[in-house]
Amino acid sequence: MQPDVPVCSLCTEPAVVYQRSLNRHLCGTHFTADVEFRVADTIKTQQMIVRQDRVAVALSGGKDSTALLLLLHHLLPVWEDVRLIAITVDEGIEGYREETVRSAEQLTRRLGIEHHSISFTALFGDSLDVILSGRETQACSICGILRKKALVVGAQLAGATKLATGHNLDDEAQSVLMNIFRGDLQRLVRNSRLDSSGKFIPRIKPLSRISEKEIATYLMLNDVWRELPECPYTRYALRREVRSMISGFEYKHPGTMLQLMKSKEKIERYCKGSMISEALHSCRECGDPCSGDLCQVCLLRQSLGK
Ligand code: SF4
Ligand code: ZN
Repeated sequence: MQPDVPVCSLCTEPAVVYQRSLNRHLCGTHFTADVEFRVADTIKTQQMIVRQDRVAVALSGGKDSTALLLLLHHLLPVWEDVRLIAITVDEGIEGYREETVRSAEQLTRRLGIEHHSISFTALFGDSLDVILSGRETQACSICGILRKKALVVGAQLAGATKLATGHNLDDEAQSVLMNIFRGDLQRLVRNSRLDSSGKFIPRIKPLSRISEKEIATYLMLNDVWRELPECPYTRYALRREVRSMISGFEYKHPGTMLQLMKSKEKIERYCKGSMISEALHSCRECGDPCSGDLCQVCLLRQSLGK
């Protein structure tokens, strides 16, 4: 006897996904439509994209950024006169980056999207592998600071008005907890999209309501899933531990990640304009907007003796 295959809650097709928090099964077509609707809704309710925007998509070539570019490209006709550009940062991580950079190039070529690449070597004088030698345990924090800078430079060079990143619900929920663990309330409530100083290119995260698992399913259903190598420095990341902790909670209590995000948004609203929200200054060395005397990149340069 054939085991019972669940049927989509919205049609009679076999289901491929079970959404535990909503207690419903979805077929491939309805699941794809659901993801596209939720991304469009996040963009609309948070006014992430407006007419005449030139949106730079941070395209690493990995799963999240690939899904982001595909989804934005699919939704593009909704927003008249909005343009997409893809920016790939090559940190210089041997045995890892080459393949994702290639994947990014193939995707932009297929979709006909303008693509710019920018490397750590060109921008900071060395690859991440060289910069990290002897400091591997700090890999992700150093990489994060430099990559953020590289993306901003790339977006500025491309004349972008928005910078879209592929952070998903899991990433965002992990960041909320990590900032609380570190006691970093300023970072918890920092939201460059809400910055009114005009010093930042606003960063938007259209996938912040879509889980990592949903992104993987979306890519598989759309035939763009590819097994890619993992960054060799991931093993040093604190995020890894937080990730497995939150996954456990999410499994036992579906909706935990979404609730974490809602809590963060409430705190953000309460803190707007308060002492916790940072006042912006200009970096003493490079003039970039920052909260202290020096920006993170210049602080890092100083500590690396560069
Ligand atoms: Fe950079 Fe860490 Fe991501 Fe590797 S895992 S690309 S070092 S942030
Ligand atoms: Zn600086």
